[in-house]
Amino acid sequence: MSSSGLPAPTTRFAPAPTGRLHLGHLANAIYVWGLARQGGGRVLLRVEDHDRQRCRPEFETALLDDLDRLGIAADEPSTDDLRRGPSRYRQSDNGPLYAATVDDLVAAGLAYACDCTRATFAAWRSEHRGSWTGPGCPGGCRARTLTIGAGLGIRAALGDGDEAWVDELRGPSVGLVAASGDLLVRDRNGNWTYALCVVVDDLRHGVDLVVRGEDLLEATAPQIRLGRLLGRPAPPRFAHHPLVRRPDGSKLSKADNATAVGELLDAGRSARALLGEAAARVGLLDGPRSISFGEALSLLG
Ligand code: GLU
Repeated sequence: MSSSGLPAPTTRFAPAPTGRLHLGHLANAIYVWGLARQGGGRVLLRVEDHDRQRCRPEFETALLDDLDRLGIAADEPSTDDLRRGPSRYRQSDNGPLYAATVDDLVAAGLAYACDCTRATFAAWRSEHRGSWTGPGCPGGCRARTLTIGAGLGIRAALGDGDEAWVDELRGPSVGLVAASGDLLVRDRNGNWTYALCVVVDDLRHGVDLVVRGEDLLEATAPQIRLGRLLGRPAPPRFAHHPLVRRPDGSKLSKADNATAVGELLDAGRSARALLGEAAARVGLLDGPRSISFGEALSLLG
C-alpha cells in the first residue's frame, strides 16, 4: 500500500524501437517513474517492437544504451537482461501469445478477417463526405466471413458506445470504443498491432497504471473494452500527460535529430540538462535548468 491508501502500482516504460529516444520519451520517463514513486510502486521496461517493418534492432540497442547513459533503470528487466536474449518484455519474442489471444477472439466470433485498405476507407470518405465511424468497417468484412490469411488484416468487434475512466492527470474522461471502425488486431503485413499487444502485455505483466502521452488518449477506450473481453476484471488506471512539442505546436518525431537523446549526449549535453529541458517543455519547470532524475520525479509532487 502507498501513503494514499491505494495498492502500490505497477507501471511501465514502453518505447517502440522505431527511432532514437527523444526528449518526449524523457518527459514520459519523468511521469512514469514519478507516478510510480508517488504510489510506492514499480516500473517495468517493455520493448514494443510489434511492428516488424518499422522496428530495427539497432534502435533497440541505442534505446538500451541511452537509458544506461541517462542513469534511468526499471525495476524489471534490466537493460542487460534484454541484451542477453529473448524476453517476456520484448513483444517480438512473444508472438505466439498474441496469436493465441486472437485465435480465442476468432473462436468466440469476436474477430474476423478484413480486406479493407486505406483506399477502402478513403473511398468511403469521398462517397459519404465523412469518415467511417462506429463498429464494423467500410467493406462489411465481418458479414463476408473471409478466410483469415496472408495479406488480410484481422479486426476485433468490440461493440459500440464509449468507456469512461478517471484519468490521474486529466480527471474524468471518456472515449469512443469504435471511433473509426472495429479495432485492427493484426495488420495486412501480419504484424500484431500496438492496441492488441499493449492490452495483452499490460494484463500479463500485471500493469495496473498506464502512464503515457496525451496523443494516445483515443486509444484508451478501445483498450479498456478489449481488456474486459480478454477477461481483465478491472482496467488499469490511466494517466495521460502533456507532450513535448515543436515550437509550432506539432508533435516531435523520432526523426528529429535535434531532440534525439543519444545525439545530444554525444554533443556534450549532460543527462541533467536534458532532464531539465524535457521537464520544462511539458510545464513541470518554469524554464530549463539542470536537474537530477530524482529531482525531476519530485516535480510531480
Ligand atoms: N509504445 C508506445 C509508444 O512508443 C507507447 C505505448 C503506451 O504507453 O501505451 O508510443
